[in-house]
Amino acid sequence: MILLDGKTTSNQIKEEIAQAVQQRKTESKKIPHLAAVLVGNDGASMTYVNSKVKSCERVGFKSTLIRLDAETSEETLLQEIEKLNTDDDIDGFIVQLPLPTHIDEQKIIMAVHPDKDVDGFHPINVGRMTLDLPAFLSATPFGILELLERYNIETSGKHAVIIGRSHIVGRPMSILLSQKRPVGNATVTVAHSRTKNLKEITLQADIIIAALGIPEFLTGDMVKDGVVIIDVGITRVEDSSKPRGYRLAGDVHFESVSKKASYITPVPGGVGPMTIAMLLKNTLLACQNKDNT
Ligand code: NAD
Repeated sequence: MILLDGKTTSNQIKEEIAQAVQQRKTESKKIPHLAAVLVGNDGASMTYVNSKVKSCERVGFKSTLIRLDAETSEETLLQEIEKLNTDDDIDGFIVQLPLPTHIDEQKIIMAVHPDKDVDGFHPINVGRMTLDLPAFLSATPFGILELLERYNIETSGKHAVIIGRSHIVGRPMSILLSQKRPVGNATVTVAHSRTKNLKEITLQADIIIAALGIPEFLTGDMVKDGVVIIDVGITRVEDSSKPRGYRLAGDVHFESVSKKASYITPVPGGVGPMTIAMLLKNTLLACQNKDNT
């Protein structure tokens, strides 16, 4: 069994991005600038945003964090987005999800200019991705493709089972893996909450991408020998033995599944760090896209 080490791989990607930034500096080109908008005080969201901002510093990007309180109106948030859309120094920005329930998330996603949508959530980017046109790919699926590529994992002709059909992970992942691209050409099955006989399906899988958000859902008896496992899930599970009172659990029961897998991502240290690295990659791309305009 080989561990798909997202931490080390993401550090390599960050190093490559840092070198590209250095090169831009020597050529007197613009330094990439990522902004993040955080509404409210959700603990997990604050952790994610802080690590995104820290990663920007590490690769030499400029970063801006805009913090708004939990009562911020949809109108005010839309105004903030418009400011970011029209600020020439900002190459890309993200609005950390989930948003408070009084704000319509879809309306917010639609308000982000597609050229600055480094999360790849805007329908224009999703549409372009679906049609195999250049687009910002949603960072988590993009990170999974990159991890599979860097570990030379064959996907062509393989049966990939994606568990979960969310707009940010399962759905784009299923589209990307079925496309004619270096990491693609797979035969894809999408499983979801209404899927019957899931075990029969997962037992046929050469590659399983678990993105459902139920801790340790996929167990050893549900997979065949040699399977490649990508565990996207991150759930905080109460654990009084830990200083913070919780541990992070994936959607895969690591102990039983790793005994059968040929490759497997750990949680933490698998998909999570790759997601951040790909957000940086999208921001660099957004900046480069402006070079010739
Ligand atoms: P979501 O809640 O939007 O979607 C969950 C999906 O799982 C749904 O499509 C649902 O149909 C499916 N599902 C639920 N129960 C199921 C069952 N019993 N059998 C089969 N399918 C079932 O989730 P999401 O936003 O895609 O996130 C999934 C997990 O991945 C969460 O733990 C989330 O925290 C994590 N996540 C991690 C990263 C990362 O960077 N590592 C990024 C995004 C999400």
